[in-house]
Amino acid sequence: MLHEKLSSIYDNVLHRNPGETEFHQAVREVLESIGPVLGKHPEYAESKIIERICEPERQIIFRVPWEDDRGEVHINRGFRVEFNSALGPYKGGLRFHPSVYLGIVKFLGFEQIFKNSLTGLPIGGGKGGSDFDPKGRSQREIMRFCQSFMTELYRHIGEYTDVPAGDIGVGGREVGYLFGQYKRITNRYESGVITGKGLSYGGAQVRTEATGYGCAFFVDEMLKARGTSFDGKRVVVSGSGNVAVYTIEKIQQLGGVVVACSDSSGYVVDDAGIDLDLLKQVKEVERLRVDVYAKRRGGDASFVPGRSVWEVPCEVAMPSATQNEVTGRDAEMLVRGGCIAVGEGANMPTMPEGIRVFQEAGVAFGPGKAANAGGVATSALEMQQNASRDSWSFEFSERRLQEIMRDIHARCLATADEYGMPGNYVAGANIDGFRRVADAMLALGLI
Ligand code: GLU
Repeated sequence: MLHEKLSSIYDNVLHRNPGETEFHQAVREVLESIGPVLGKHPEYAESKIIERICEPERQIIFRVPWEDDRGEVHINRGFRVEFNSALGPYKGGLRFHPSVYLGIVKFLGFEQIFKNSLTGLPIGGGKGGSDFDPKGRSQREIMRFCQSFMTELYRHIGEYTDVPAGDIGVGGREVGYLFGQYKRITNRYESGVITGKGLSYGGAQVRTEATGYGCAFFVDEMLKARGTSFDGKRVVVSGSGNVAVYTIEKIQQLGGVVVACSDSSGYVVDDAGIDLDLLKQVKEVERLRVDVYAKRRGGDASFVPGRSVWEVPCEVAMPSATQNEVTGRDAEMLVRGGCIAVGEGANMPTMPEGIRVFQEAGVAFGPGKAANAGGVATSALEMQQNASRDSWSFEFSERRLQEIMRDIHARCLATADEYGMPGNYVAGANIDGFRRVADAMLALGLI
């Protein structure tokens, strides 16, 4: 339920941003948590901090024309929403997926403000992308698209202004083409203008692994706080992209048994535990679907087309595919199957009814803002290395990531306690992330 003042702010958000359902959902979830903060801090309401936070500082929408291999011209739409720069330059990834429209970019940008704040590092919130569908496109088509996208984006970004990175559909290859075009247009080797770069041209160790590893570290902390661990636990990870693959890798290192993963065609269940080398070969190298994994793996591994991976019973669930992939019914199924912990590797993968089901059942629920913050935190470490023209070892970078995830976990718990909601990581993350941004906005005056 929303407290009266927040309810009128929310109505105004609905009115000003018609049809942007994912953005509405992301705003509502934060507003539901911060009622008690306004009681303690009347200065936030007096200065209209919440109304200001809900309105992006700047929104850029542009045309992206490009030519396919047959010479046909295509027109896509590009977006960059520069949401909040109270804590640092706008920071957040680019998503290339046919579902991308302004409402998706705004939901992601809004989440990013609080996530980035939670890392404790000096980064503001932003997000971008395009409705371009990379599926089935050749390497040269991807390169031409990235070059066209950057030909407009370059004038809006910069090391001290706005620093993009990857998200769904944008990995190391795309970041390389984007950075190459930026460098070519500006004639500047400005490494800190984008993160997720390759190791040979200014990228950081552990950035590729960071979102997945960070999410596994976060859940490890939640399990430890309940006196248990990953050791021997049955785990289901949805998705099979960058986040899912490195979540599986770290969980296996921590002793968990990942028995299923998925993509948009269905899921594979493999009770002996996912063979990660094979999964990487199929998904990362050959860019094929998960049914190929099941065929090559043989034995007890099987592919189940078109169904929800959440029907596979597990003790820990790691939704790592996309928004709204866990419904209320999925959550009920998971709870019935013995699930005790959930770590969101994707952004907003659990629908509001699902969150309610988990919390009422006493499941340790780590929201994406906290659990998947390791990716962007390591991007901030990449910016730090670029600024000092340094590069850190894998071991040191992973240690830093683990410390950051432990710290986020501890602050979420402490904040939830402070506000009388022990164990509520959603409230802890939203309140702690919000307070830091709000205080900076107050300190900076009317921005
Ligand atoms: N797209 C990632 C996220 O959702 C990473 C963003 C970044 O590294 O800037 O946090």
